[in-house]
Formats: sequence, structure tokens, C-alpha cells
Amino acid sequence: MSSGPIWRFLCCTLLLLTCSAFSLAQNTEPKAPPVLDVHVHAMDGTFPGVAPMCPNTSKFTASDPKDKEAPFGWVKEECSPALYPSAPGEYVKDVLAEMERLNVTAVVFGDPKSVEKWRAAAPARIIPGTSFSNGMAPGQRVALDELRKDFTSGGFKVMGEIGLQYEGISPSDPSVDAYFALAEELDIPVAVHMGTGGSGRANVMMPKFRGSMGNPLLFEELLARHPKLRLQVMHAGYPMIEEMLTLLQANSHVYVDVAGLIWSYPIKEVNRYIERLVDAGFEDRVMFGTDQLLWPKLMAYSISIIQNADYLTPQQKRDILYNNAARFLRINPAQGK
Ligand SMILES: [Zn+2]
Repeated sequence: MSSGPIWRFLCCTLLLLTCSAFSLAQNTEPKAPPVLDVHVHAMDGTFPGVAPMCPNTSKFTASDPKDKEAPFGWVKEECSPALYPSAPGEYVKDVLAEMERLNVTAVVFGDPKSVEKWRAAAPARIIPGTSFSNGMAPGQRVALDELRKDFTSGGFKVMGEIGLQYEGISPSDPSVDAYFALAEELDIPVAVHMGTGGSGRANVMMPKFRGSMGNPLLFEELLARHPKLRLQVMHAGYPMIEEMLTLLQANSHVYVDVAGLIWSYPIKEVNRYIERLVDAGFEDRVMFGTDQLLWPKLMAYSISIIQNADYLTPQQKRDILYNNAARFLRINPAQGK
């Protein structure tokens, strides 16, 4: 397998947890109202060593550098049901079947070839996204002209997932400005990984990752240079809520997605973070996303967290699950009512 998918795997909050305390109701209506998932990866299910995953782990454990350290820091717990990976060769088919059952349309990110496979399999449910990072090595970039073609004639609609934080680089760094300028020129929204990551072991697994490069306020210079840029702050800048709210206050073209954080942190904390965004007045800029990587049932599980949120009104749930993303992506919002 190429380094691209591995890099994208690391770029997400992920991890192969073995536990959880929550079993939430799954969405099983025969014709569910439409959902937009703005954060899916064009994985093919072949990532090695995948274990059943327990979402919303309750805590991070300490470790000692003199011992052999696990690649992630979540505590190992029991959970029922755990989320299982697909049988070999079945992953894409399984996820697309879930999307059909749950009435989900998704922005799928990856290298153009991988995304094309998904689009060919389900053209009506896939919104293609690709980015300028090329493989796992920091600084590897797709040529600007090649990316321009992806968006002008290749049918790609969103520039992402941009994972500069994993390289220890700010989104306002001049070395990547030409890509953001291209997005502004072509009126293509950008989706940037921000905040989450490390999974409790960034110091062990990702030496270039910097928590400080996940500060949402690092977008300020970029947005000042590109005032028409439409920005999706992935993972809602978790856990930097004050900085996230400051950016949302100052920049009305900025939206957030709750992907990854919705299932990979303690459930009370997840709900508190989403509630804070909504209570601060940004209920029309919070978008649903999963960070779908390896477990087909993750989508239903993540939708259920929004559906079961007692602090959200029915309208706010619909807005987060569909209407906000439809506005951001300029899809007909009437479909979500
Ligand atoms: Zn990410």
C-alpha cells in the first residue's frame, strides 16, 4: 500500500481502541432523513492490524519512557457492542451500504485515484475531495497545476484533508499559501485538520506533530490574506474551544466539523464541547462528520450521538446533520427539512 493512505490514517484522531462505556441507539428508520457527512476518508479497509474499536473511551493513561509504550494512550476497556472492521475486501461495499441505509451523502477525501473508486461505486452519494499533501513525508506536495486540474476538470469539490499540523506547520505558513490562494480563486472550500491528534502518544508516534499548530487562531493571518476563503475547521479545533469561538466570532465564512472528536473522546466531554459551540450562537456552523476510516458501523454510531443529544432541539439536530453542510457546500438545503 502506498504511503498516502497511511498518512491520511495518521491524520485522523483514530485509533484502535478496545473499549467503551456507551451503547447508543442505532439509526434504523427505513427512510431516514438525509445526512451530510463532511469528513470521510477513501480507505479500502486493508490497513493492517485493525482491531475492534470501542468508541468514546473514558480516559487516557500515563506511560513511562523506560517501558515499551503503546502507540495510543486510551485506556483499555470492555464495550458492547464494539465496532468491527469489515471482512477482507468488503469495506467499501459495507460503508456504501450503510450510507444507503442511513441516507448519507459524504465528502470523501483521498488521493484522486482512491476517491474515484468510491465515486464510481456510488456517484450520487459521494462528494469528492483531495488535497496538496503527497504521501507521508513532511513537505511532499502535489504540483499546483495538477491540483488545479483536479478542481477545474476532475470534478473535485473540496480541498482536504489538509494535515499541516502533523508536519508541525501553521496553516498561515507562506510555503503553502499558493494552495489556499488557488482554493480562493476557484471558490473551492478548504478542510483543514485542526486540534485533535496524537491520541495520547504523539510524542511516541508522531514526532513532528505539534498541539500548538492546532490552535484555530493560526488561521487568522491566512483568512486576512484570503478574505473569500471558505474554511472547514476539522475536528472543531478540539480541545481549544475559546480559540475556536474567537475565530468563529471574527470570521463568518468559517464552519467546523465534529468528526473524530465525536467518537474518540469521553462522551461527556464530546457533548460539552458541541453544546458549547451551539450555546455560543454557532448552531448554523457546526457540521456532522465521522472521520470514517475502518469500521462501517461508525457512521450510525456517530449519527446517534447527535440524535440522542438532549441539549439540541430537533431543528438544531437537523441543521448539524444536514442543513449547515448543505449551506457550506452549496447543496439545496430544502432537501434537509
Ligand atoms: Zn483529521
